[in-house]
Amino acid sequence: MVEMIMHVELCKGCGLCQATCPQDLLSTSDQVNSKGFYPVVLLDKAKCTGCALCARMCPDLVIEIHKQTA
Ligand code: SF4
Ligand code: SF4
Repeated sequence: MVEMIMHVELCKGCGLCQATCPQDLLSTSDQVNSKGFYPVVLLDKAKCTGCALCARMCPDLVIEIHKQTA
């Protein structure tokens, strides 16, 4: 099971993570965060493979990926 934790208040909406996702699962929220940026949102949690490329790409450590092994 994959869990993504998104620290939306840290996101500056640069789009680097969006460009990196092989599944094209990341989009931009239509609501701004407290800093006035449009943070990234995960479109379909069920399709996320937990590859963590998005988390590694983010320069601001906005995204955490946790994978549970049985
Ligand atoms: S963990 Fe991988 S598949 Fe999931 S949103 Fe990030 S880049 Fe996309
Ligand atoms: S999560 Fe990180 S890489 Fe993605 S848009 Fe926000 S700041 Fe940029």
